[in-house]
Amino acid sequence: MPFTLVIHGGAGNITPAIMNKEQEEQYTAGLKEALDKGYDVLSKGGAALDAVVMAISVLEDNPLFNAGRGAVFTKKGLNEMDASLMDGSNLMAGAIAGVRNIKNPIKLAREVMLHSGHVFLSGEGAAEFALGKGIEMAPDEYFFNRSRYDQWVEIRDTDFYQLDHKDDNLKGTVPNTDYKYGTVGAVAWDEQGNIAAGTSTGGMTNKRFGRIGDSPVVGAGTYANNITCGISCTGHGEHFLRAVVAHDVSCLMEYKGLPLKEACAIVIKDKLVKIGGEGGLIAVDSKGNYEFCFNSAGMYRGMRNSEGKEIVAFYGEE
Ligand code: ASP
Repeated sequence: MPFTLVIHGGAGNITPAIMNKEQEEQYTAGLKEALDKGYDVLSKGGAALDAVVMAISVLEDNPLFNAGRGAVFTKKGLNEMDASLMDGSNLMAGAIAGVRNIKNPIKLAREVMLHSGHVFLSGEGAAEFALGKGIEMAPDEYFFNRSRYDQWVEIRDTDFYQLDHKDDNLKGTVPNTDYKYGTVGAVAWDEQGNIAAGTSTGGMTNKRFGRIGDSPVVGAGTYANNITCGISCTGHGEHFLRAVVAHDVSCLMEYKGLPLKEACAIVIKDKLVKIGGEGGLIAVDSKGNYEFCFNSAGMYRGMRNSEGKEIVAFYGEE
C-alpha cells in the first residue's frame, strides 16, 4: 500500500550564496534523518500521526532548526516554543504555545490532543499538564545555542523582533543577518489513507508580550483533513494567521474542487503575496500527491514515499 511523507525545516532567503558546502551537508543530513525515521514508521504500516511526531521530534532534537533544542531567544532571553498537531482522520487536534523546557513540544501537542479534553494549552498551564503526563523536560542549557544567542544579543536592546528568516520588508523587524532558518513541520499520508500534519517552532527572535505566530494555530500553520489534504506552514506568522493559510488550502479543495497544486499556489503565491507574507508550506493530498510551495527564495524540505522516491532540497526551482 502506498504512503508519502514530506517535511520542512523553514522557508526564507535560502540561496546558494548563503550556504557553504558544510552547511549544505549538515542540513541534508538533518532533513534526511527526519525523513528516514518517519519513513520507517510508515513502511511498517504505522500511522501518519506517529510518522509526523517522529519526523518532527528528530528535527526538534537538531540545533540547526528553530524548534525544540534550537529554539530562538525571546526578548527576555528565554526559549518559548509553540507546536501543533492534527489528525485528518477525525479532525482531532492538539496545540501548545509559549512553553519552556519541553524537550519535544510536538509530543506535548500530541498529549494535549489525546488526553487533555482540550485543543490548545499555553504557558504555565501547559507546563503543569506536561508534568502530570510525564513529558520529558530539559534544562535551559539544553536549549542554549551560540548562533541563536548572538542573533538575539544583536537586537535585544531594541524594539525589533526578527523572523528566523531574512525578510527586509517587515515592519517592526530587522533583516536577519546570520541567515538562520528553521521552523519545522511534517505531513504524512499512511497506508490506511489517513493524513496527519504537525508544526513546531521557537517563533521569532526577540519576540515579547507572549507573541504567538501561526505554527501552533490549527487552520493557520497546520491543518489535516483526510478528504482534502494535510498542510504545515513556515513563514512570517502574522501574515499566515491573517490569511488562515492551511485551512484555506483545504477549503479551496473541498468547496471548489481544486487540485492540491493549484490550491497551494493560490494561497501562497497570490493571496499571501498581496498582504506581504513571505514563506511557504508542505502538503500531501488524499491520493498521496505532495506539494512544496513557497514564495521565498528557498525552503528546507524533503519527501520520501513508498515508490522509492526521495527528495531533499533547499533552493527554488530544484
Ligand atoms: N511561522 C513561524 C512564526 O511566525 C516562524 C517560522 O515559520 O519560521 O512563529
